[in-house]
Amino acid sequence: MDTLFGHQHIGRDTVQPAHGVFCSLPQYEGKGRPHMNSGLIGKIDKAKRYAQERGRMHVKGLKVDFQGENDSHEVALEGGQWRCSCDFFDGWGACAHTMALERVLDGMIPSSAITPMLAHAS
Ligand SMILES: [Zn+2]
Repeated sequence: MDTLFGHQHIGRDTVQPAHGVFCSLPQYEGKGRPHMNSGLIGKIDKAKRYAQERGRMHVKGLKVDFQGENDSHEVALEGGQWRCSCDFFDGWGACAHTMALERVLDGMIPSSAITPMLAHAS
């Protein structure tokens, strides 16, 4: 008699959600830490602000290995002047590599290193 019901209800209790696995992690984040990090946090905030104020930074010298499409080139900023090892630079005193870096370093390089034609183009 009761076998009819018995079969239908097997397995009813086997699926139980695992309690407390995902909700038991306390939140330790940033500002709650009392000592030692408060100074560092201040510096990080300052760094974020400074990063927006490029005029504060004056790049005086730089060496970059620039991976171009066909070859890699050595680009340098020295004494307010660009140098690049590519052929194009020899003829023009500027090239895709130096001009790309001018854009990356926008506002941080001396005016002597800004390619005149680029100043108009941007
Ligand atoms: Zn170049």
